[in-house]
Amino acid sequence: MSQELHRFQKSYYMSTKRFFLLLKVASLALCASLLASATQAQEIWKGEGKKAHAEGCPRLETMLADPQIKAKMSQITPKDMMSERIELCSKCPDIMAKLFNYDPKMKVYRDALWFRVHAENCPELILKEHKKTMTLAEADLAGARIGESGQSGRTNCCFFGYQRQHPQKKLTDETLLCGNDNKRNVKHIAGCHRYWPDRTDMRRPLKDWVADGFKVCDHCIERGPSVASITDEEWAKLGTPFEFVAPSGWSPTAFFPDRRPSQEELELLIQETLAKSNGIQELQFTDPLASMENFMVMRFFFPVHNWLDFYMAYRATGDERLREKLLESARHYNQLAKTFPSVAQAKASTPEGIPFMLTMAASARITLQLALKKPDSVSPEQLAEAEDFLKTMYLVLHPTCEGTRSKLDQEMRIPQELADDFRTRAFNRSMNGIGTLGIFAAAMEDLQTLKNTNQFQKAIQQYQHVAGEYIKHWFSKSHFCDKNGGFYYSYKPEDKAYEKVDGCPIFKRPEDAGHYSHTMQGVVFLYESAPELGANDQLMTAVASAIYHNSTTKIQRHGEAVLSGHIECPTMSQVDPYGSKRGGHQYSPARERFYVLEAFKEGMIDGLCDPLSSEEKAAANSEYDKRLATLYAQYANAIRKDRSLIHLGERM
Ligand SMILES: [Zn+2]
Ligand SMILES: [Zn+2]
Ligand SMILES: [Zn+2]
Ligand SMILES: [Zn+2]
Ligand SMILES: [Zn+2]
Repeated sequence: MSQELHRFQKSYYMSTKRFFLLLKVASLALCASLLASATQAQEIWKGEGKKAHAEGCPRLETMLADPQIKAKMSQITPKDMMSERIELCSKCPDIMAKLFNYDPKMKVYRDALWFRVHAENCPELILKEHKKTMTLAEADLAGARIGESGQSGRTNCCFFGYQRQHPQKKLTDETLLCGNDNKRNVKHIAGCHRYWPDRTDMRRPLKDWVADGFKVCDHCIERGPSVASITDEEWAKLGTPFEFVAPSGWSPTAFFPDRRPSQEELELLIQETLAKSNGIQELQFTDPLASMENFMVMRFFFPVHNWLDFYMAYRATGDERLREKLLESARHYNQLAKTFPSVAQAKASTPEGIPFMLTMAASARITLQLALKKPDSVSPEQLAEAEDFLKTMYLVLHPTCEGTRSKLDQEMRIPQELADDFRTRAFNRSMNGIGTLGIFAAAMEDLQTLKNTNQFQKAIQQYQHVAGEYIKHWFSKSHFCDKNGGFYYSYKPEDKAYEKVDGCPIFKRPEDAGHYSHTMQGVVFLYESAPELGANDQLMTAVASAIYHNSTTKIQRHGEAVLSGHIECPTMSQVDPYGSKRGGHQYSPARERFYVLEAFKEGMIDGLCDPLSSEEKAAANSEYDKRLATLYAQYANAIRKDRSLIHLGERM
């Protein structure tokens, strides 16, 4: 046994001795309190959502004093807290370390990407059976992060309250950092959520970067060392497939909602789209476990920008090369889910993670739409592939949406865990997952029609029901304003009764325009695939009214007339304009995510560009994302009138 380990164990036994002494004192006190009350152990209570409260928490006292709130609360064990990912609130006494007796000899599981270890029953632990193990004491001595997870390691997933004996391992002079020679960029460890590597980036030891005057990413410092690597071969695949070079003499100009651009303009837009990377989010490390850990923290919920570009460009042109582009990531994630089903299921355990399958759902839907409408345009292999994507999605989604994991929620009649998630998660984080479910269910319907059977009917109804319940819940927290016909909601579900003025709720935190635009993207997916669930013409028209009003009507704030960064109904912006509070968002013109609303309100794009001069407007609308969004608005307008339309190429 090494000297240091020996010293550590000695000091551990000393501290356990002290601990038992303390325990004796504590148990005496406990005996006294047992006499005083009938309480046996420290009680922990949970209500709706992901927070629990321990005895002694001031919030708990207030909550238990209210019979209505108390009726919704129940006691929970520390073990269930861990498996259900429930944490104590910030006001709670720090009791977790005392609740668990951490044995230094207990087995811990080492991650493959960051130097972190987890407990046997850690909810963040994936692919446990493939992971290297050590003892808690060994991990502590080696400097591993203990019970940390998330992008920067700020989240605790296990070993709550653990007091480490040895310092954490830090980055060293030899740590490999990546980046280009742009002095303004900080340098990262491959796998950092703030870093989008490109094959032209260099990989050098930290000391060389620092000697050249570069800085190291704060998140990378905080998170600590990596234990994964990437081969030169994989590195050489990173980034975009080719660089789009504008033909000489061509400069981009704005598209218009009522005019089809020339064939040349369309082809250039397609070329620009094809030059984008396939949007696969996790890096391909030498150890696939490291890639899976990376996959688990990557965010897919806005959804992935490039996937949306491929999708919109396909719907707006019908170009086969774009469909192929969508298939790159669809095939990749189909394979991932088949190789590591438990990881895929864990990722999809909340609506936030579901959009990792967006291109699987979208490409399958497109293939099946084509197969129904123009059978000759789809080969048997393409059809089989689409069916395979749907089969995989079903296997991934089934535990989350059909309740093998938890009992049914009485009100929503969906699995309890999912219902709790619906009630707590910010709308912008969930809606693209719900949109993905809508596309998935529509694709299953197409498949069923094509096969002339009703064998998927039960599944289709279940997924429609889940998406429908989400929309219903969203509506119950929203406001259709009769002052201007707009649709308004809060950043996340707000529990407390709103103050109401003149029939309008005053949200604590009305949605900001940026997050509204991401939420709305999920709603557009539903509008295309399952309008009967509530994302129909009426909703889209109300959304358009709210956004148009926001962009064209100044509000009074601190005695100044300004456009608001928050989407507030006329009463809200008059009574309590949110943007004046700390953390309020600023207004930003020409948000292309809203351009699609031109289909529901003529003049929408002009409205969004209202604060711009005509030169600024022409420049903004000549940008790639705006040209694409303008074209996609034409598609949305066309399917309003013809639901059988697959893409705008059919109109040419
Ligand atoms: Zn508390
Ligand atoms: Zn953990
Ligand atoms: Zn970083
Ligand atoms: Zn209102
Ligand atoms: Zn884009």
